[in-house]
Formats: sequence, C-alpha cells, structure tokens
Amino acid sequence: MSKKENEKVNDKLGSTEKPLDVVREDPLADISGLISKEIPPGVDRRNFLMRSAVGGAAAVMMGRSVSTQQAIAKALATMPPQAAAGPKPPLAADLNVVKKGQGPVLTTADEFYKVGPGPSSSHTIGPMRITYDFYQRATKLPADKLAKATKLQVNLFGSLSATGKGHGTERAALAGLVGKEPATVDPLFLDSLRDKPDQTFPVKIGAKSIDVSLKDVIYDATKGDFKHPNTMTVKLLAGSEVLLEQEYYSVGGGFIEWKGYTPPKKNPPKYPFRLMKELRAHADNNKLSIAKVILANEMSIAGRSEEEVYAFIDKIINAMVATVKSGLSMSEDDVLPGPIKLHSKAATVYKRAMDDKYAADKGIAALSAFAIAASEENGRGHLVITAPTGGSAGVMPSLVYGLLEVRKVDRQKVRDGMLAALGVGYLCKHHATLSAAEGGCQAEIGVASSMAAALTATAYDAESLVVENAAESALEHHLGMTCDPVAGYVQVPCIERCAFGAVKAWTAYAIASNEIASRHRVDFDATVMALAETAKDMNSKYKETSEAGLALSVTLC
Ligand code: SF4
Repeated sequence: MSKKENEKVNDKLGSTEKPLDVVREDPLADISGLISKEIPPGVDRRNFLMRSAVGGAAAVMMGRSVSTQQAIAKALATMPPQAAAGPKPPLAADLNVVKKGQGPVLTTADEFYKVGPGPSSSHTIGPMRITYDFYQRATKLPADKLAKATKLQVNLFGSLSATGKGHGTERAALAGLVGKEPATVDPLFLDSLRDKPDQTFPVKIGAKSIDVSLKDVIYDATKGDFKHPNTMTVKLLAGSEVLLEQEYYSVGGGFIEWKGYTPPKKNPPKYPFRLMKELRAHADNNKLSIAKVILANEMSIAGRSEEEVYAFIDKIINAMVATVKSGLSMSEDDVLPGPIKLHSKAATVYKRAMDDKYAADKGIAALSAFAIAASEENGRGHLVITAPTGGSAGVMPSLVYGLLEVRKVDRQKVRDGMLAALGVGYLCKHHATLSAAEGGCQAEIGVASSMAAALTATAYDAESLVVENAAESALEHHLGMTCDPVAGYVQVPCIERCAFGAVKAWTAYAIASNEIASRHRVDFDATVMALAETAKDMNSKYKETSEAGLALSVTLC
C-alpha cells in the first residue's frame, strides 16, 4: 500500500463519529476495537491485526499509552503489499457465503438446524436439496422442451467428488432427483440404494417420464477452478442437447447456493448484530438474555410468533433426543457401513460407564456415549440434525440429552440454550465457515462445541458474558483442527471427535462459570476471526479431501 493510500485510510479512520477507545493496558487483551472497524481494502487482515497488536505492545513496554487509532495507523504503515499475504481461499468472491459477513446476521433457526440423513450435511443434505431444487426448476420448463427430455445428469466436483463415495453423495443426489427431501426421506430408501445400486426410478418430467439411476450421478474432476470446493452441476438433456443446466454449491451445514444466487429478502432483525459484542450489548442494555435477543430477531426476521419459534425448537430438541436414544439402542455387534468395519460402541461405553465408581468419570463417559450414539447414527446415514453439520451431529444432542434426560434441567432453559447456541453458530457462519471443505474440522466440531458450551451455560442461567466466554473457550481449543476422514467415511476420527467436542463444551462451561468472567482475556469475535483466518491458511489436503492426516496414515486391512 502506498504512503498516499495509507494517509487516505488514516483519514477515513480518523473521521469516525465516535472517538476510538484507548487501548487497554495490554493491547493484546482486546482487539475487538479493531475487528469492529472495516479492514481497509487491499490489506491482509491477519497481518494487519498482528502488526496493530505488536505495535501497541511495543508502546506499552516503552511506557507509552497508545490509542487504537494510532495502532491502526502504525500497522498500515508497516504492512507489506497484499501480494505477499498468505494463500487465498479457494472461493469465488461473488458467493453469498463469502460476502455475507458485511451486514447484520439474518440467518434463522429453520435454515440452521436441519433434519436430514447423515453422514455429512454438505455431502448428503446439501446435494439432496440441490437435486430436489433442480427437479422443481426443470418441471417449470415449457411443455415442448420437456417433451424432448431424455436424461437427467448430475456431475460432482471438488470435495464432493473426492470424498462423495464415502459420504453416499450419489445416493443423496439421486434421492433428491426422485423427489425426496432431507427431512422426510426414509433412511431405508438410501440404504436400499446402497444395497441394490442398479435400481432405476421413473421421474415425471412434464407429460413423460425419464428413468434415473445412480449411473446418472457422475464423480467428476476433484481439482479445478471451482467457485466453491463443493461444486456440482445438474442438467436436463435431450440427447446431447442441454435443455437446462444449473451450477450449484453446497456451502456447508446443508446450506446451498447456485450460480447467480441472491439471498432471499428478509425482514430486518429487531436487534441487529454483526458481532458477539453487539449481540451481548443488546442483551445487557435491554436486560435480556442472549437467548431472548435471538428469539426477538427470529420473530422479526422470519415473521413468526414466539409459539412458532419454540415449536420449531421443540421439534429439533425432540429429534436430538431421538437420535441419541436410537444410537444407544444399537447392538455393540452392529458394524457401520463402509470399508473401516467400525463397530458401534455407544451402548458399550454407556453401559460400562454406569458401573464406574467415580461420579465424575461416569459423567464424562456418559456424555461421550451420548455423542457417540448420535454420531454413529450419522455414520449409518440415519436422520440427524445439523448443529451445525452432519459430521458434528453428535455434539449438541449429547448436551441436550444430558441436560434434559439425565440432569432433568427445565425444558424451557434447554430451549433457551438452543437459541443462544444459534447466536454462536450464526456468527461462525457469518464471519468464518461451517464447511470442512473450506475450513477443516474446526469449522464443524469446533463450532458445534462452541454452540454446545453456549447451550449449557444458558441452560444453567449464566450471565451473557459467561455464555460468550464458554463459547469462546470451546471454539478456541479447536482452532487448527483438520478434517481427514479415513477412507472418506464420516466415522474416523469423526465419531469420537464428537465425544471430545461435547466434553470440551462441558469443560468450557465449567471454566467459564467458575472463573472471574471479566478477566477472560480472549473475546469470542477475535476467536471467530482466528477461525476464519486459519481456514484460509489451512492446506487444502486437510479440508475434507482425505488426502492427508489420518486418511493417509491409517491402513485398512
Ligand atoms: S474430520 Fe471433522 S470435519 Fe471432517 S468429516 Fe469428520 S467430523 Fe466432519
């Protein structure tokens, strides 16, 4: 950046209406003042923030106080050109999932908590929603075009192609084409596609019907210049003539976008927030909990009544409890699908934990068993709940089950915990990612653990700062975690990792509720920023490609 450009940016920063606060005694303690400022265009964010902090620290060591404004100016003056910055994320800038962090959070509960078949929201729920969406579009074509149609074809690219076989992506994509939706599909239908892969199904297109089968789902290029690592195309063909083609992206957590996507118009939130510190300020200034702020926004953005919001949350809670119960009921001789030949172990861990002579050991093992139970259900391709994804589908249900069924915590408190967890998940989606193909496992289990920590703290009536601290701590201690599923199956390390995510959530709550909250040194927004930056820097081999880590070192016999 030239000196002149620096001056321009300095002027812009200097003209803010509200003077910036003086950096606290330790300039590394709170960088939220920097986060809330727009990082100047053309500047590498991480480098910029590091330089700001280092500059401030040097000033303090020399006994000088330094304003945030001065720290920013100093950081800009010493920035290397953008070209020297770290690797770019493999995402197109026009994707909504990339642009989204600029305005207030507008995600709603029904977009976030989705019921659908495992094992991976981005590789099963997303593709099923995509082909279902395409089918709806195709049926709207003029009758004369539809009369010519002979074939439907799905092409999978990038991570969908690299690990799709292990995730059953082709089965999910075919199910969507034949009109199945994630929330209502019978997992037995998907199992039957696995057991009898040659089945064909008639799909009604206009007046005629086209036969489709798994052969119509093609595992295409794993590497290329894709807008998103989870890219797929769907086509309606008349011989070699393309009647309709759409490029789609499964952007994580079951969310989908397509080429030319514009997000649906929504009502403004009652309490707009872009950062945790803003969310918490709404709560504190209005004498509300974080959960009630999320509830009010849910009602205003989606135009729903309080009863409707809670009815939906109840549906998700019930589904979470059901998935744990179902997982615990499976015999220890059950073997999960796929080449790993992994035995189910939730029931064994739970049964043996109950005989443990120490209550604390019993508690940790039981929480782990609940997480393993739900995660094994995911591995079986049964219905799970994205919170935020399929791979992490054991974490939140473990805490929900433990709080409701074991601790007998009042249901309303668990409902509120689910809302507070949404606030955490929304912010991670807004500024970072929920997709392992973009950010590794920190984006899945890390976010799930953070949400579960907020759920637990809220269920135990913690004040908003403790909720934030618990969520921060759980996320912080997953930073850098890679995604390397063995043989491309969401089983190893995923199933046990859900147990660790659940236990870490409990640990985060235990620390946050017992420490002096105001002395917690890392704020949630800074950790989400670290999540986003770590995601960008992570080698693509560790982003759900099964090209490195355990996927390489574990040998299957
Ligand atoms: S390693 Fe983590 S991110 Fe990767 S598939 Fe497993 S649970 Fe998902």
